[in-house]
Amino acid sequence: MKKTILTGLRPTGNLHLGHLFGAGQNYVKMQDEYEFFLEIADVQALTDNFNNPEKVRKNVYELTMDLLAIGVDPHKVNLFIQSKIPEIAELTVFYSNLVTIARLYRNPTVKSEVSQKKELFGNDGESITYGFLGYPVSQAADITALGGEVVPVGDDQLPLLEQCREIVRKFNNIYGNVLSEPEAVLSNTSRLKGLDGNEKMGKSLGNAIFLIDSEETISKKVMDAVTDPSKIRKDDPANPDICMVYYYHKLVTPKDDLKTVCSECRNGDRGCVACKKELIKNLCDFLQPIKDRRKQYEDDPLLVQKILSDGTNKARERAKATMKQVKEAMKIDY
Ligand code: ATP
Ligand code: MG
Repeated sequence: MKKTILTGLRPTGNLHLGHLFGAGQNYVKMQDEYEFFLEIADVQALTDNFNNPEKVRKNVYELTMDLLAIGVDPHKVNLFIQSKIPEIAELTVFYSNLVTIARLYRNPTVKSEVSQKKELFGNDGESITYGFLGYPVSQAADITALGGEVVPVGDDQLPLLEQCREIVRKFNNIYGNVLSEPEAVLSNTSRLKGLDGNEKMGKSLGNAIFLIDSEETISKKVMDAVTDPSKIRKDDPANPDICMVYYYHKLVTPKDDLKTVCSECRNGDRGCVACKKELIKNLCDFLQPIKDRRKQYEDDPLLVQKILSDGTNKARERAKATMKQVKEAMKIDY
């Protein structure tokens, strides 16, 4: 029997390089060996975008096309929409008894996201909503409703997985052994930094290179990237290890060329502008096949809809089966 993967993305924008290197490449690698459910987490996206439903709706389709473009195979992966699985919402309510408010406040992922969203939640998080504070509970419901055993994610998600495991243990202790504890799978690039040097490239952080960005947009972003500040003139030697341009070269530049980039930088034989131009070209070459594949889906919106509805039907069957067991265990199977 194949093990089950459940993972998800929030439809809050297009996929960026952080998604691809942090999680997406793992999806593609793992799709042959697992029963795979990939959730478009629209309910979770609404927790901090409740005032912008159009954005979430539009990005459900954008995100689906991006995922197909990076090589997620709809014959192997069940792509589904979270809000179409009411069992997840139901399970969230049951799980909310198993977690304290103090524990949710202490969750490091929630904490750092609240501090990034001051406009919405206030300077000290004093206006945080019940929904946002509780999204780790809903995420635990996503994973367990689908029977997720393996969860490929970036490392910003690890505290959420830990929270999920705690809820599972508590549930099983009280109601009997019904749920299995999921494990996280990290990629080699479990947290891709931003071009601005920020510890994470993120949609909400405004420092992302999106897979669909044009050459012009990529050029602008790369030209603004943070380099070794001690390098003033073109022929000053510099340290590539503290340069975001080199950091991205490592992802997309062929090995031999990469050695040249590194040694020329250290010796002061290359200026930052030339180095950035080379990176722009390599990034564009790297992204072109993804854009080509995406175009096929852009031209066939009915196919995208069908992929989502087929995946959602499969996910719903799974969630219903879990819910039946959960309700029996909780003695609410009237
Ligand atoms: P938002 O700012 O709306 O939360 P996000 O960029 O964090 O967007 P998510 O949809 O929350 O994207 O995350 C989807 C998946 O991509 C998660 O598994 C997350 O860990 C991973 N991920 C996102 N950004 C990065 C990154 N910079 N490096 C590695 N993994 C990442
Ligand atoms: Mg996120």
